Amino acid sequence: MNAGLTSSSNQETDKKLVFTIKERCRVCYTCVRECPAKAIRITGGQAEVITSRCIACGNCIKVCSQDAKIFYKEIEHVKYLISAYPKVIALVAPSFPAEFYDIEDHKTLVGIIKSFGFSHVTEVSFGADLIARYYKEQLTLDMPAISSDCPAIVAYIERYEPELTKKLAAVVSPMVAMARVVRKKYGNDSKLVFIGPCLAKKAESTEVDAVLTFRELREMMENARINPSKIVKAEFDPPMGGRGAIFPLSHGLLNTMEVNEDILSENVLVAGGKANFQDALREFSQGNLEGHHLHLLCCEGCILGPGMTPYPNTSPTGMRFAKKARIIDYANRKMAVLDKEEWLAYLEEYSKLDFSRTFESRDMTSVRPPNEQIKDILYKMGKYSQQDHLNCGACGYDSCEEHAIAIINGLAETEMCLPYSIEKLHKYIRELNISKEKLANVQEALRHSEKLAGMGQLSAGIAHELNNPLGVITMYSNILKEELPVDSPMLQDIALIVEQADRCRKIVGGLLNFARKNQLNITETDVVKLARHSIDSVIIPEGINVRLNSKVTDPKVNLDYDQMTQVLTNLLKNAVEAMPEKGEIVFGLTDTNDQLTMNITDNGTGIQPENMDKLFTPFFTTKGIGKGTGLGLPIIYGIVKMHKGDVTVKSNIDPASGPTGTTFTITIPRNRLV
Ligand code: ADP
Ligand code: MG
Repeated sequence: MNAGLTSSSNQETDKKLVFTIKERCRVCYTCVRECPAKAIRITGGQAEVITSRCIACGNCIKVCSQDAKIFYKEIEHVKYLISAYPKVIALVAPSFPAEFYDIEDHKTLVGIIKSFGFSHVTEVSFGADLIARYYKEQLTLDMPAISSDCPAIVAYIERYEPELTKKLAAVVSPMVAMARVVRKKYGNDSKLVFIGPCLAKKAESTEVDAVLTFRELREMMENARINPSKIVKAEFDPPMGGRGAIFPLSHGLLNTMEVNEDILSENVLVAGGKANFQDALREFSQGNLEGHHLHLLCCEGCILGPGMTPYPNTSPTGMRFAKKARIIDYANRKMAVLDKEEWLAYLEEYSKLDFSRTFESRDMTSVRPPNEQIKDILYKMGKYSQQDHLNCGACGYDSCEEHAIAIINGLAETEMCLPYSIEKLHKYIRELNISKEKLANVQEALRHSEKLAGMGQLSAGIAHELNNPLGVITMYSNILKEELPVDSPMLQDIALIVEQADRCRKIVGGLLNFARKNQLNITETDVVKLARHSIDSVIIPEGINVRLNSKVTDPKVNLDYDQMTQVLTNLLKNAVEAMPEKGEIVFGLTDTNDQLTMNITDNGTGIQPENMDKLFTPFFTTKGIGKGTGLGLPIIYGIVKMHKGDVTVKSNIDPASGPTGTTFTITIPRNRLV
């Protein structure tokens, strides 16, 4: 036994018979599922046939809906043989009537084959007649045997049931028997070409020089534009086949032997097709079939071989009964005209040839990997308990465990597990959504910082321009204030001018600062007082009512008093301006341990939805020339951001969906570290 796939078989000597056309392979794993030898490796999502494991049954070719599997063709080699050697003899398999249903009779077919330059055309059914005799003798022996006429079965047993090679009937196949007969009759210098339904024949024996499938023969006929009606008919060259004509049917060997049905059912078990032959071998090796012979075929009869052309508009296994009927019809016609004496004389003559053969063990069985290793792989596919083993077969393996073992042996990939891949896909989608969200946040932040940068430039410009006139106002208002008598009625107004001008200076200074390095002057502030002060700083027209609604538990918040006053007065002014006649402004204050939230809500006009994302753009205003500057909100935004806070806005312009108006919400962290 070998660990893994390190094989005792010499791969160089194995003929590569099946190829994958990568561009066509859609990785459906059907070939993996249908391969009795598990000789298909999936790597990088591509199916590849491992020659040393392949038994050339051709199942993968038959089941591939994409025609991605092709077999090794020998047409060119056969053409070369014909051109180089005088005697090239065709050995035609007895299944030909099932293939060439569209050709009038066997004589036309023989004529066609000869038209390619074959010197002789013989029937392998005579080889079947010869080996049937051998099998008949075996039946009477006590030693149970397994038939060895199907090369794919022999290849399977040599690789996957090596212990059973000694049970294989030590007799050559009808093809090799016929090859020996033909050489004997026509000379050792003959070149022999077998033509049949089977792919495995291409690797069976060196005693034939080439093997053409019926499909290849048809291809040659198409390329040569053969017109069967113009062909000179010819009879098969001797020796003629007899009952061997029914050999390609699933019980064909037994029928060829002329054993009666009772012995048959008692003594020989017939199994054809991938699942059946494997089951039969398993039961045989377990000793459950004691005293019985096994007649095994890889296909369900050679008439369903991969080298047969599928009948038009049918599946590869379609029309099996029509094919069977054609074989039987041909055999009956043949037996009716057979010169029995001549046939028996030939049988007698060639029975003396040596038809024995030997088999080699090419052990490809693998030792079961340790349970721990299997478990590890199953874990990787998200299979933690027996319930997770769905054994759905989508990967091409019968169970999750077999799939895991194939992965360990380098034959399969975890991605082949459908439930695992679906789960992974869902995970990717989730992750993708998260990154999409993150991206959106980053984009938003980018937009904000662009605004901030624009605002910085802007405020620097404004501040610079305002600084000088403000200096003049401050200076002259101070002079006026000092010169006024203490009981002057104007004193209070002048004092207000001085105070506000002073605030303006600070703000302008702040703006200059902000433009330069975003500086704040943080002090511990009572936010309720701040709110009141802001309300008092705004001229509230008659008809408008401002209500402070404070629910703060702790009014102490660290912030820049002057700049935050500017924020709030700007918001209040906007609210007033949105209510030309009358209305109400609610100034809400709430807090948590970590942050302060200030809501300024008006029941004014509301903001047009299309303007919502322009609000914070410098100079955006809807207030007409000379009225609005479009600077209020950009400055608010900058100040709030410097506080590491946020400004959001909600607005409604449609009375049908509730009261109109706007709410600006400012949140800032309570203890911003300066
Ligand atoms: P300005 O007040 O000079 O127009 P702002 O930056 O303060 O500049 O405001 C920009 C625009 O946002 C205003 O012109 C107005 O269209 C809109 N806006 C701001 N606040 C409100 C509000 N409370 N109600 C309705 N519209 C508002
Ligand atoms: Mg404004």
